[in-house]
Amino acid sequence: MKLFAVFGNPIAHSKSPILHNYTLYKLKIDARYSRYLLDSSKDFRELFFLLGLSGANITLPYKEDVANICDEICGIAQKIGAVNTIIKKDNKIIGYNTDAIGFYKNIESKNIKNALILGAGGSAKAIAMILKEKNINVIISNRSKKNLSFFDEKGFETCINDEILECTKKIEFDIIINATSSSINNTLPLQKDSLESLFERSKIAFDLMYGKECIFLEFAKIKGLDTINGSKMLLYQAIPALSIFTNIDETKIKPHMEYIYNIINHD
Ligand code: NDP
Repeated sequence: MKLFAVFGNPIAHSKSPILHNYTLYKLKIDARYSRYLLDSSKDFRELFFLLGLSGANITLPYKEDVANICDEICGIAQKIGAVNTIIKKDNKIIGYNTDAIGFYKNIESKNIKNALILGAGGSAKAIAMILKEKNINVIISNRSKKNLSFFDEKGFETCINDEILECTKKIEFDIIINATSSSINNTLPLQKDSLESLFERSKIAFDLMYGKECIFLEFAKIKGLDTINGSKMLLYQAIPALSIFTNIDETKIKPHMEYIYNIINHD
């Protein structure tokens, strides 16, 4: 039997085991997918091999740490420097990033030209890189300066949250993406008045969190924006991840994963 798992902290809320286990069962693959709470990424490499895993998903806050212990990194993950999917191959760890395409699938039909990303962590990097690949203008704002250097080096326009109104001037955004973990803590990612001003000149608000209402999207709805939460991003990153784990084409995985997603998702 092949073993897969998701690692993160927190992890109890993760719906990945349900999506993957149901689909593995329907595809008649002898495999199980579990979850592990990881206190630190320090001995992750040893742990991954010790547990006999064939592959894993990595979530908050370890995507960049795990990218650093991969033997090889493939595709867009090379540009992002963060991985959410790893496999064992010839006793090596190979890393991938399916968050980027998982995010993009949500908006590909929406004619987005200008985007503002709040946050500068692993998922902000994934989103920024895929939007850049699709020729969408992107500004990144974060509460602290240090994590913005990645984006500065890649030629993105960046600012700190305290300067966001000055920095974005009167730009109208097709989408504002909350890629911070503020919603997990039930706080807004920015000062309320700054956010209000940004929402007044934006069309869509996207929050990566899924599973419950968040105040970022509640506020956006009040200001009249269309809203998207992170639940479909979870689905769309899980489909290519399982394809990487099993070598099975995404078209065979998709109907089963969509079916169980629709059962467990009540958004
Ligand atoms: P990281 O830990 O890598 O980055 C977190 C970012 O959020 C940092 O830029 C941090 O700022 C900022 N931040 C944290 N708390 C606050 C706050 N209270 N106010 C303002 N900024 C804050 O996290 P990830 O990028 O991996 O994940 C971010 C979120 O996206 C998580 O909630 C995660 O669960 C969700 N996610 C959802 C996915 C899905 O499939 N739906 C996929 C991936 C992620 P600083 O740099 O100053 O520390």
